[in-house]
Amino acid sequence: MADSFLFPRSFRIALIALIPLVLVATACGQSSDPSNDAVTLDLAIDGERLLQHVEILSSDGYQGRKAGTDGGEMTRSYLEGVFEEIGLAPACSEMHQPFSFEGREGTINAVNLIARIPGTSPGSGAIALTAHFDHLGVFNDEIYNGADDNASGTAALLEIARLVQSQPLERDLIVAAFDAEEQGLIGAREFVNSECFTGLDVRFNVNMDMISRSEAGEIYAAGTSHYTFVRPVLEAVDHSDAMELLFGHDRPGTTQMDWTSSSDHALFHRAGIPFIYFGVEDHPGYHNPSDDFEAIHPEFFQSAADYIYHAVRAIDAAMPGFPTRD
Ligand SMILES: [Zn+2]
Repeated sequence: MADSFLFPRSFRIALIALIPLVLVATACGQSSDPSNDAVTLDLAIDGERLLQHVEILSSDGYQGRKAGTDGGEMTRSYLEGVFEEIGLAPACSEMHQPFSFEGREGTINAVNLIARIPGTSPGSGAIALTAHFDHLGVFNDEIYNGADDNASGTAALLEIARLVQSQPLERDLIVAAFDAEEQGLIGAREFVNSECFTGLDVRFNVNMDMISRSEAGEIYAAGTSHYTFVRPVLEAVDHSDAMELLFGHDRPGTTQMDWTSSSDHALFHRAGIPFIYFGVEDHPGYHNPSDDFEAIHPEFFQSAADYIYHAVRAIDAAMPGFPTRD
């Protein structure tokens, strides 16, 4: 990969100054269509909070959030604090799902955080909204802050959970913050293989991993080659002009990389549970110390998170029409 590309500072400041205007414009755009379901569209992602989570979690104090490190521990307590503030309840007996695995440095102790927001239609199953909060830590005295990978998805997880908590879905929403993704999707594997998971009746996974940095303003919804019935649902959800929704990166034999196994959604897919994975193309900051808060694209990020929130609601509404497994 080439060296980091950053916007000139002045342009970044201009973008940040534009955010409040964009938020107002987005909110107006969403509520102006009287044919829209008024019940679901009066809430939108709080863009300021969203950015604040990323700025904090990708600051040097968090030391790159590697599983089993002090920075990982700090990240978990930050997330616990926000979970508590939102009022999230544990999905199973405990919010914490601890696990250990063998890493290069010996035994690593990691912890997932798994919450559940009960739906309005009990017995209709659950959607698992997932994002990994760990990153690569420190190498050769350089901190890999992982702003896009994946403080961005973690921030969206928190803010989408906040909205759903105040306006539940029909189905339960499982809010899963995974540890140890970077070592090989280990947190997600622990969750999908756990007794807790078995009792939750998860029928769909929406995974977010790298959703804040795209020069072209493009976000992929990968997975529709496997689960074609989801594509029209996603296409019908409005989004702002600050992002473009693309499909692909989900099958071998094309010039694009196949991302089917590239992040935590892979474990759901292997378990026969349909997934959609939201993520951007690899960029110069990918797995680089230059994956910093200053390099993300705030307006794009806010639009993407807002789109994903509405996509989750649309999937929830459309699920009765999805094919069922025998
Ligand atoms: Zn990642």
